[in-house]
Amino acid sequence: MTGRQILVVEDEKSIRDMIAFGLRRAGFEVLEAEDASTARGKIADRRPDLLLVDWMLPDQSGLDLTRAIRRDKETEDLPVIMLTARAAEQDKVSGLEVGADDYLTKPFSTRELVARINAVLRRTLPGDEAGTIESGGLKMDTLGHRVTAAGEPVSLGPTEYRLLKFFMEHPERVYTRGQLLDRIWGGAVYIEERTVDVHVRRLRKALEPSGLDALVQTVRGSGYRFSARPE
Ligand code: CA
Repeated sequence: MTGRQILVVEDEKSIRDMIAFGLRRAGFEVLEAEDASTARGKIADRRPDLLLVDWMLPDQSGLDLTRAIRRDKETEDLPVIMLTARAAEQDKVSGLEVGADDYLTKPFSTRELVARINAVLRRTLPGDEAGTIESGGLKMDTLGHRVTAAGEPVSLGPTEYRLLKFFMEHPERVYTRGQLLDRIWGGAVYIEERTVDVHVRRLRKALEPSGLDALVQTVRGSGYRFSARPE
């Protein structure tokens, strides 16, 4: 994953410098922004591969910046990892709900940060295999990363795309949250099983307008199943 361009959005210069130093040593290219508006400019100019967004920024919260990135067609699939000094569970859930792909609480080691970045990049980069998968009214073009539900385009974040792709490739089977973490998040040990629920919720929400959210079924006490057959 080296050579990838990471945009670090953090107003505290000492922290930004430390992160940038660690990432450059790990082989990444680093762009820096001290606030949300600078970040937007750099995203438009340079199109980084991943964003690290601090929760507390001077002009706009990291949460609002992430939400805005997800709402913009140009940037909706840009991977985002949120950074925060607050370890509160609700913050974490809020971060994931606005569309962050992962969440890291300060202080963290460079090693942990690099592991998280690599995990997010691995699961958000286009896969090698190309083709079209169809199931239950859903159609996925794995080359163009486009999904349509009942003929209408569906806008998915990178993690939801990976999740749906996995489900469509493995229909009619129940997977536990742990198995989904292994298969979709690459077994990153830091991620809690609850994260799976957050992304499943987002995936269902994206499928809701087409009524195809029912394809993603909760199997009580076990996990999730993708099924083209109604329950
Ligand atoms: Ca800050």
